[in-house]
Amino acid sequence: MLAFLFHGFCEHGAAFPDISYGFYKVFAQMFGIQAKQVPLRADFSVAVEDYAGLRETVFIANPNAPTGICLTRGEIEKLLRQDPARLVVVDEAYVEFGGESAAGLIGEYDNLVVTRTFSKSHALAGARLGYALANLKLIADLNTLRYSFNPYNVNRLSILLGAAAMRDEAYFAGLRSEVVSSREYITEQLRGMGFTVPESKANFVFAGANPKLGGADYYRKLRENGILVRHFDQPRIEDFVRITVGTREQMEILARTTKTILAGEA
Ligand SMILES: *Cc1c(COP(=O)(O)O)cnc(C)c1O
Repeated sequence: MLAFLFHGFCEHGAAFPDISYGFYKVFAQMFGIQAKQVPLRADFSVAVEDYAGLRETVFIANPNAPTGICLTRGEIEKLLRQDPARLVVVDEAYVEFGGESAAGLIGEYDNLVVTRTFSKSHALAGARLGYALANLKLIADLNTLRYSFNPYNVNRLSILLGAAAMRDEAYFAGLRSEVVSSREYITEQLRGMGFTVPESKANFVFAGANPKLGGADYYRKLRENGILVRHFDQPRIEDFVRITVGTREQMEILARTTKTILAGEA
């Protein structure tokens, strides 16, 4: 879906935060689209006002990756109102973990596209299944693009799998609340150990800026202790790591290991 949106809906270029889902830059490059990267604020939140006056199609991961920070629906509305002729793509890959969805705004705003995936909250990344929500005219245009590329780009087994996963609400809700409670637990633990951890609405936390331990060192030490997290060797976030929220037990192991690392014993 995102590739189609970059390919067919960015005649004035694309604008997205300087720190966000890495594929936006890759898609822009691949389709020869001018990409404007708009800096996040110092606290890593999206400065919605900085998009006023931009004609480029806006791509906002909400919650954002790798920070987990989520804009409110009101802030998304501000983006939509800045220019009704400009498309705003709200990428809700992680929204089910506690973010506020913009899907309900589709009837009101013709310039809104919401994209979703089964890869994260439904743990079906191997199914390669995602979808877009928008007004009928936009969806018709997206379908035209899709049919020109490959009319059967989603296979039948994945569609059946996705539909079954969507229907199993109790299973979904149970696992989701486990992720959310493990996320709150590890956020509190890491903050208590001196890490800066923005409030995450995703299934990962972004932790760093600990005066006692740099981001690269933390990544390396965890790895030596059998725990793999993500470190981005990229300006502004090199002192942070992104930690996927696992089970409560895994998060307890992470907290314990981090304590030993900070004590210089691991
Ligand atoms: C994972 C992810 C996607 C899409 O993932 P697919 O597996 O290709 O469906 C889109 N946006 C963000 C921000 C993501 O993290």
